[in-house]
Amino acid sequence: MINYGNSSFTILGAGRSGIAVARLLKKRGAKVFLSDGSAKDSLKFFDEELMKKEGIEFELGGHTDRVFENDIFIKSPGIFPDSEIIMKAVESGKDIYSEIEIAFDVCNCPVIAITGTNGKTTTTILTGEIFKNAGFDAKVCGNVGLAFSEIADKTTDESVVILEASSFQLFDTEEFKPKVSVLLNITNDHIDWHGSFEDYLDAKLMITKNQDENDLVIINFDDKTLMNSEINPDVKRAYFSIKENLIDKEVERGSFKKEDSIIYFDKTKGIEETIMETREINIRGNHNLYNSLAAVISARSFDIKKEIIKETLMKFKGVEHRIEFIRELNGVNYYNDSKATNVESLQVALESFSGDLILILGGREKGNDYSTIENLIKEKVKTIIAVGESKDKISGFFKDKVKTVVAGSFEEAVTKAYDISESGDTVLLSPACKSFDMFDSYEHRGREFKRLVGLLK
Ligand code: ADP
Repeated sequence: MINYGNSSFTILGAGRSGIAVARLLKKRGAKVFLSDGSAKDSLKFFDEELMKKEGIEFELGGHTDRVFENDIFIKSPGIFPDSEIIMKAVESGKDIYSEIEIAFDVCNCPVIAITGTNGKTTTTILTGEIFKNAGFDAKVCGNVGLAFSEIADKTTDESVVILEASSFQLFDTEEFKPKVSVLLNITNDHIDWHGSFEDYLDAKLMITKNQDENDLVIINFDDKTLMNSEINPDVKRAYFSIKENLIDKEVERGSFKKEDSIIYFDKTKGIEETIMETREINIRGNHNLYNSLAAVISARSFDIKKEIIKETLMKFKGVEHRIEFIRELNGVNYYNDSKATNVESLQVALESFSGDLILILGGREKGNDYSTIENLIKEKVKTIIAVGESKDKISGFFKDKVKTVVAGSFEEAVTKAYDISESGDTVLLSPACKSFDMFDSYEHRGREFKRLVGLLK
């Protein structure tokens, strides 16, 4: 427990979570100083709201030596551990925490923390929906539009926090101890931030570090890297799989796909039950089946009835911009997968459809290797519509393999997709590229796509 009244904090990084933790600490009587390396457009907000009204002092556009005047550093997830300011903070010998460490310290309820390379947001929001439908005061936070520090002091012993926990946040935790932790999957990602794959994995595994025999860790049985990792042996375990019948394995509890059903079991309680049929799950694809299984286990570990889990999974529409269904027009279904900013995400999307796709592909990219999905494209895609900065590269690569047309603008891409498609087809925006050639963000691109599709007659 930190004695806030006697402590002073420097918060490095004044983004959403940085501001939230500054406010949380200030409310608890601590002295705080917010320091951000870059300038911000919202200077007025910092000046008038944070400083004048709330007494939170700040500096923007660079870190001065004033950052070293306080006892404890809080580091925002965007700042690299090998950046100059962090090197200096480490040299100073002072404690460095992430925002979730402080929020956890203040929080009054159990935390379900979800991490992994892919699927965090979807699983977090889905789990939150199930808990809300079961009547819990579920607070969904993390990298989902709300920081943990924004809700930590609003929790009661009736609440449950469902937290999307990134490796960046987990890296600087010390006493963070979720009641349930979820390890969805792990692949090479964010190595630039962590330095090496081992460090990335270690940061993810920090999620279980302080858990004990009264807590639960939920692990993807089909993920070889996770299965070969050293996960805290003191914690109760549950596994999920879409490949193995886990009841036949040395596994005490878990959830898996058996033929076309979702099974949940807990051998220690003599439970073995069918939750639902896999085809009843509204979100598409095997990747979402994994996300659903993880959510099933979290929910059952809080004794949520299987009927509520089933109902939620039948209704849950997924998260915006992730294989999001927009509308059906003349027998053609339109999907927005603007979040797919790399080839791996496009692959996941392609695997989620049976075929007859009109695929809108392209944007800003560096070194995309389309050969890894060549066969999948040949199998599932009728026509590629190449658009954006990478349109010529895409058309050059695919034109001899599958019908490819080039669109001069995003709007033209949508019109072309509409003109080409026939009843039974699916138009899918899954660009495998970043959006910055034509848009501010992938969200902006997705919204624009939905607007244009909405105008089609
Ligand atoms: P994150 O928050 O970890 O980025 P999201 O839920 O936002 O994850 O999903 C982002 C993308 O990752 C999806 O569009 C999909 O391509 C892919 N994805 C989602 N869940 C999984 C999963 N369980 N395994 C592999 N890929 C996934």
